[in-house]
Amino acid sequence: MTQTPNEHAFDKQLATNPKSDAEREAILANPGFGDYFTDHTAVVDYKVDVDGVGGWSNARIEPYGPIAMDPAASVLHYGQEIFEGLKAYRHGDGSVWSFRPEANAARFNTSARRLALPELPEEIFIESLRQLVETDQAWVPSGDGEALYLRPFMIATEAFLGVRPAREVSYRVIASPAGNYFGGELKPISIWLSTNYARAGEGGTGEAKCGGNYAASLAAQMEAEAQGCKQVLFLDPFNDNAIEELGGMNIFFVFKDGRLVTPALNGHILHGITRSSVMQLAADRGLKVEERKITIDEWRDGVDSGEITEAFACGTAAVITPIGELKTAQGSIASPGSGAGEVTMAIRETLLGIQTGAVEDLHGWLTRL
Ligand code: PMP
Repeated sequence: MTQTPNEHAFDKQLATNPKSDAEREAILANPGFGDYFTDHTAVVDYKVDVDGVGGWSNARIEPYGPIAMDPAASVLHYGQEIFEGLKAYRHGDGSVWSFRPEANAARFNTSARRLALPELPEEIFIESLRQLVETDQAWVPSGDGEALYLRPFMIATEAFLGVRPAREVSYRVIASPAGNYFGGELKPISIWLSTNYARAGEGGTGEAKCGGNYAASLAAQMEAEAQGCKQVLFLDPFNDNAIEELGGMNIFFVFKDGRLVTPALNGHILHGITRSSVMQLAADRGLKVEERKITIDEWRDGVDSGEITEAFACGTAAVITPIGELKTAQGSIASPGSGAGEVTMAIRETLLGIQTGAVEDLHGWLTRL
């Protein structure tokens, strides 16, 4: 049972030694992705009491810094951990907005249930983002394609070596100014087809956003990098090599006849919030969206016959990125033209426009932080 405290006022302890204006501005001039962090962090504790009742307490903003943790903390041994990723965008009038944060809160709780972690009330999730962004608002970039990437996460901090759900847990949020995920100007990416490794399987944790999924993808990612590729495409080897998703993004295919196809949510792949937004924006443009099984053979044949005209990857960090080429051990599938197709770029522009306030938010996706 989880108790929700009736008030989540965040105490604020400000950093005594924050980055200087000059240091921060130097970072914001070239933020990269995930390399720098703001001056503060949001924290909320969870504990199960002697009666077995769990509750969240002690919500606070603290200076950013190392976490003191017992070496026996179960996250360090059994990986009981989940996370989220979303962005805060600065609009032209200086206000700061997030994109569908309630969807991230819901997915965080889906992940929590799968990892036997406590659910976090949505209002604490949203308030933690708001408090951190308010405290570190000078870190929200305003350049084209830039945002403050927010990383909420939950870790099992109880010190014990038995394998069971921890009774002490910490929820935290850190923030990192972000430019283009793949660096520099937008250009089509090459991706590598992983056939030696699967990312997820039936009944596994593929649908959860837990650290272990990403640790398990790294060996495949190293293969990809050795092949000059930026991302890995994972298949379901037990289902005709159906296409699942990339290491950190969902995938879409544009068909010449106006269809947009993406692998169905089958329990193994992440319910991408960009994915669901892309499906809506595509339907708004009159495309016919199909969530279904699509195999590597269908991709290859579709490109050969001219039926598939574009492929793209999507996620919070990478937004929408055209796929130029899929490299496989048996040759490659190259997207027609430069790879940066018309439909891909149009949906990208609409999505980015909504996020940054340049296009009307007809679906009510923005929340002011
Ligand atoms: N799949 C995986 C495995 C991911 O890590 C991500 C990034 N969260 C996505 C898809 C895209 O999800 P979203 O659009 O919510 O960022």
